[in-house]
Amino acid sequence: MEQAAAAASACTLCAPHLPLGPRPIHQLHAKARIVITSQAPGTKAHLSGIPFEDASGERLRDWLGLDRDRFYDPTQVAILPMGMCYPGHLPRGGDAPPRPECAPTWHPRILPLFARPRLRLLVGAHAIRFVLGRGMPFAERIRRYAETLPDHFPLPHPSWRTLVWAKRNPWFDAEVIPALRQEVARALAPTG
Ligand code: SF4
Repeated sequence: MEQAAAAASACTLCAPHLPLGPRPIHQLHAKARIVITSQAPGTKAHLSGIPFEDASGERLRDWLGLDRDRFYDPTQVAILPMGMCYPGHLPRGGDAPPRPECAPTWHPRILPLFARPRLRLLVGAHAIRFVLGRGMPFAERIRRYAETLPDHFPLPHPSWRTLVWAKRNPWFDAEVIPALRQEVARALAPTG
């Protein structure tokens, strides 16, 4: 895993498409029990090199029931996004989608190197579509999270837009978040 992580850190595969240049951001350790597949870093993460160190990260940690220490402990939580580098902005605002080269190049190489992964969180529509396919509308996929357990837990991206979405879909806070915390606790529980 160390070699693969170093190779990923040195990746320049889609450099011509990256407005701020390559800076792959990930958190990888073979012992991680939870693997978070999120979208792509924003400008803040690009500058700091630290994933989810923003309001979205605070929201995600709250959803998971994890404090910063556990979230940033690579032996517990891995972060392998759909795109490891900041992909730039869309012409009408908002971040561009993750670069399409990234996940097909790196996920097959890195995922088999986790020794005992117990749960993979698919955070956002790009990760959900890539791993689970397009067979279901987004909200339905989230609501029917139990169908992809114990391996995968589909989630919306924890951006402020999701707060609006969650207000329209109150089952998310009432049912999905408690189940998510339970699955995270299960995944991180010590083995006997
Ligand atoms: S986005 Fe992924 S494929 Fe592209 S340069 Fe960064 S690490 Fe490499």
